[in-house]
Amino acid sequence: MKPEELKIIFLDRDGVINEFPGMGNYVVSLGDFRMIPGSAKAVGLLCRAGFEVHVITNQGCVSRGLLSREGLDKIHQRMRAEIEKEGGDLAGIFYCPHQTSDVCDCKKPRTTLFLKAVAERRVDFSNVYFIGDSEEDILAGKNLGCKTVLVLSGRIPETQTGKLPVQPDFIKQDLWEAAQWITQEKS
Ligand SMILES: [Mg+2]
Ligand SMILES: [Zn+2]
Repeated sequence: MKPEELKIIFLDRDGVINEFPGMGNYVVSLGDFRMIPGSAKAVGLLCRAGFEVHVITNQGCVSRGLLSREGLDKIHQRMRAEIEKEGGDLAGIFYCPHQTSDVCDCKKPRTTLFLKAVAERRVDFSNVYFIGDSEEDILAGKNLGCKTVLVLSGRIPETQTGKLPVQPDFIKQDLWEAAQWITQEKS
């Protein structure tokens, strides 16, 4: 497939797919994991429109010892199941388990996990969307050279978007609105 034919979307997890757990908090159990209304349906819509959808998420709770990798896998199984109910299928889930003090090479805004997701394929990142709810997401998207979409369903309320040091290319209320917009724009 030619780079321009690949349709790829990257999604952040917390505040985009599932409810933002709050500043400094983490989703460390299935009980903490609640899907944002319409997010599973949104992934279904994107998949049906031919997009390959990957989740790229920072989960420093693993390094902090608050959640095991097995526990995180269980949460991701639940997320996959919720999305599959709406006809979606995640191509990949990539997470950074580290915290800043670990000085790793995979934590967003670094781009290692994104490059891992596309493996060896040649990708025209200017055609790729990254939908996230935080400053580090916008920065990661800019570092990668893709189209950045900030959703207001998580970390950053609408009143603070003007104060961001790096502006996203687009702002949408939530993943459902973003998915409808992307699929209409692309069709
Ligand atoms: Mg987030
Ligand atoms: Zn890392």
